[in-house]
Amino acid sequence: MDHFLYHNGILHAEDVAIPEIAAAVGTPFYVYSAATLTRHYRLFTEALSPLPHLVCFAIKSLSNVAVLKLLGDLGAGMDVVSGGEYLRAKAAGVPGDRIVFSGVGKTREEMKLALEGGIRQFNLESEPEMRALSEVATALGVVAPVTVRVNPDVDAKTHAKIATGKSENKFGIPIARAREVYAEIARLPGLKAIGIDVHIGSQLTELAPFEAAFAKVRELTLALRADGHDIQRLDLGGGLGIPYTRSNEAPPLPTDYGAMVKRTLGDLGCEIEIEPGRLISGNAGLLVSGVVYVKNGEGRDFLILDAAMNDLVRPSMYDAHHDIIPVIEAPAGSPTQPFDVVGPVCETGDTFAKARELPLVAPGDLVAFRSAGAYGAVMASEYNTRPLIPEVLVQGDHFAVIRRRPTFDEILARDTIPEWL
Ligand SMILES: *Cc1c(COP(=O)(O)O)cnc(C)c1O
Repeated sequence: MDHFLYHNGILHAEDVAIPEIAAAVGTPFYVYSAATLTRHYRLFTEALSPLPHLVCFAIKSLSNVAVLKLLGDLGAGMDVVSGGEYLRAKAAGVPGDRIVFSGVGKTREEMKLALEGGIRQFNLESEPEMRALSEVATALGVVAPVTVRVNPDVDAKTHAKIATGKSENKFGIPIARAREVYAEIARLPGLKAIGIDVHIGSQLTELAPFEAAFAKVRELTLALRADGHDIQRLDLGGGLGIPYTRSNEAPPLPTDYGAMVKRTLGDLGCEIEIEPGRLISGNAGLLVSGVVYVKNGEGRDFLILDAAMNDLVRPSMYDAHHDIIPVIEAPAGSPTQPFDVVGPVCETGDTFAKARELPLVAPGDLVAFRSAGAYGAVMASEYNTRPLIPEVLVQGDHFAVIRRRPTFDEILARDTIPEWL
């Protein structure tokens, strides 16, 4: 459920009419609903209660500082995968003891930044990284709390580019090697192992792969405790999928996920951490775009939008489906027609949808891409020197621009011509 509904035939974000925002900021733009973000965060905390837990929002799915402040103020922790994301979490006022640092290639500079600014834990992904962190922590005279991300070798049954829990993926340490690795951590002066981490992929539409992974984490918890390690926290990663079409997909709900976590891990006395990104942010955002031209081609008609693959790359990168709806609702029974929905970028890959049945629209009309809150704005680029598009946050009947569109002067000012040219 989200808060993007038609009222009197006009698409709204909560109580704000989308055309009103379009008039204020121009198209294209992203718009997020505070009520939807809040609701999705709460679904997880309720699903995990009464287990001690922390829901750490995966910043990489939607990293605007205003969104992080909204979630942080509700009590959320943050999962960061870079020094930049760490700084975003801090800028949003999230205390270090609610920030977990994930990612396969943390640099020494990033480790230092987080150790100095405060960190809940580092999720380690390799033995070289583990030794580097011990050295950095020792040099600062501190001990870094760590988990090891184990790779449980389960098939997440999702798109190959977002599956992370098979042994051929670059992520984590093979679970079979975990006991040796924890033994080495115990010998390193700068580290203290406090838990185990696992994250098997994104956009999972079944619980079974999670359950298979968590069963392995359970066994490992018992084995590590028998080896004398103080395993207090289990970080179960993110990955729960969302429905991208309103008809045929029904991924498991947070409640089902929470019940499964309790069933498989609830008796271990551990604090549970989860790192959902997409499920919190995905359906909390729309990409709103204007129709520039309707072009009649041979055997197909093209809807040429002012949004392009640089603004929303998921369709060209992952063959992802986004529902596309008109901002002014077509009256029931009005005709539809198949369109190839494309952007203006000079790439055939700049295609959002092929032969999509849509009501008839005209230049100047607005359309909205649903489920665009996650991995939308954060993956945008300025390809074709198209400015990053604004982000808008709606709460109730008011809205604010939370990232403005840069001017071309600002964009051009970042380039410098060397004096010898
Ligand atoms: C991407 C990622 C997440 C979030 O995944 P979602 O599918 O958006 O829930 C969580 N943890 C880690 C380590 C990740 O890389």
